[in-house]
Amino acid sequence: MEDCIFCKISNGDLGTEFIYEDETAVVFKDINPKADIHLLVVPKEHVQDLNECSAELIGKLMSIVKKVTVQENIKSFRTVINTGKDAGQEVFHLHIHILSGNIKF
Ligand code: AMP
Ligand code: ZN
Repeated sequence: MEDCIFCKISNGDLGTEFIYEDETAVVFKDINPKADIHLLVVPKEHVQDLNECSAELIGKLMSIVKKVTVQENIKSFRTVINTGKDAGQEVFHLHIHILSGNIKF
């Protein structure tokens, strides 16, 4: 989707360093970290939020959370999905936050 920052990032247009990538999603560091480790799992497909997300896609994204936390040796972490403006969603392209250590969220 045009003018969507996470579409641009997941397409590789901004040269963002990916911690993980597969055909479904990319994982990269949050630009404004709210914990010692703050990663975002972002699907390559533009999906606005969890309300618009299929069970199949959210299942794949959660399994990517598991893969990445194992890969990065993150043993204790919080996952957050903000859905809608009133819940604090700022980027309207679905993403799962992974937070670990000194979480300020
Ligand atoms: P949310 O409030 O759930 O929509 O979270 C959006 C998150 O995206 C925030 O934690 C931002 O710091 C993060 N963010 C926004 N723009 C970028 C970017 N260009 N690269 C990495 N993270 C970003
Ligand atoms: Zn998008």
